Amino acid sequence: MNPRVYATPLRTRFRGLDVRDGVLVAGPAGWGEFSPFWDYDIAESAAWWRAAHEAATLGWPAPRRTRIPVNVTVPAVGPDRAAEIVAASGGCTTAKVKVAEPGQSVADEQARLEAVRSALGPGGRIRIDANGAWDLDTALGRLAVLDRAAGGLEYAEQPCADVADLAALRRRGSVPIAADESIRRAEDPMAVVRAEAADVVVLKVQPLGGVRAALRIAEEVGLPVVVSSALETSVGIAAGLALAAALPTLEHACGLATVHLLTADVVADPLVPVDGTIAVRRPEPDPAALEATAADDVRTARWRARLDAVAELTGLAVPVGADASAGTRGGAVSR
Ligand SMILES: [Mg+2]
Repeated sequence: MNPRVYATPLRTRFRGLDVRDGVLVAGPAGWGEFSPFWDYDIAESAAWWRAAHEAATLGWPAPRRTRIPVNVTVPAVGPDRAAEIVAASGGCTTAKVKVAEPGQSVADEQARLEAVRSALGPGGRIRIDANGAWDLDTALGRLAVLDRAAGGLEYAEQPCADVADLAALRRRGSVPIAADESIRRAEDPMAVVRAEAADVVVLKVQPLGGVRAALRIAEEVGLPVVVSSALETSVGIAAGLALAAALPTLEHACGLATVHLLTADVVADPLVPVDGTIAVRRPEPDPAALEATAADDVRTARWRARLDAVAELTGLAVPVGADASAGTRGGAVSR
């Protein structure tokens, strides 16, 4: 039955979450994923729905490349675990390391970065993500310390929340700056460009409203792009791969190697890296995997309400799709 609500525990607490959940919808062009985090209201979730609707009804522009280099993501874990995650990454030579986790110290971050550098070797690239947690002075101090601990940072992602602070940091510091939240949660993504606040922009398909919308933003921004996931299943990751594959140029590894952060996926052949790259393809949900990840009735009802609300707000109806591969029990939303 279409749509399908999934819920799967995360291996490590991430973004304050223990469980990832969302809706998969099938349409004439294939499957799409609608999975805005629960702190997004209906208005902000509308873009996420446009992305899922595009996937299910239109599909994506033609790819320019067949494999996408990806980074391993290292959550705010201890150094031993960080090294294990890099070693088990499927050959990734770029690591994105989470920093600025509440309750952790600079020493924790240094130890994590040193462990990641040892595991990657001198040729690897290390980027950090602070999710906008620091003020300008804290960021100036931290970046210098963490740049040394990492043996050189590729860039720092959203070290400060404020665009003016990012611009000041970029002028005064030596670490390149990437903008993430300043693009995807901003009314005006071009503010980053006008302020010369970033060297790189992180683009995510769902919050930006789809592959085509993200391609338009990439063109307007005119800076190197890193395509990242919103912690989706392989159905959502396929849209990120489609964006990365359609960009005119791709200079940095993308943040699309995240399905292993979920304890279960909805496809039989998940989009995971081999030799540090993921093949550009679009796996179909697997009936047994859908059944194993089917959400309970309470969660299913919450998603049904959310889906109806965004469909009404955007005027984009839930597609009545070809749904040959899906089972019919558990997690199905009857409409
Ligand atoms: Mg980020």
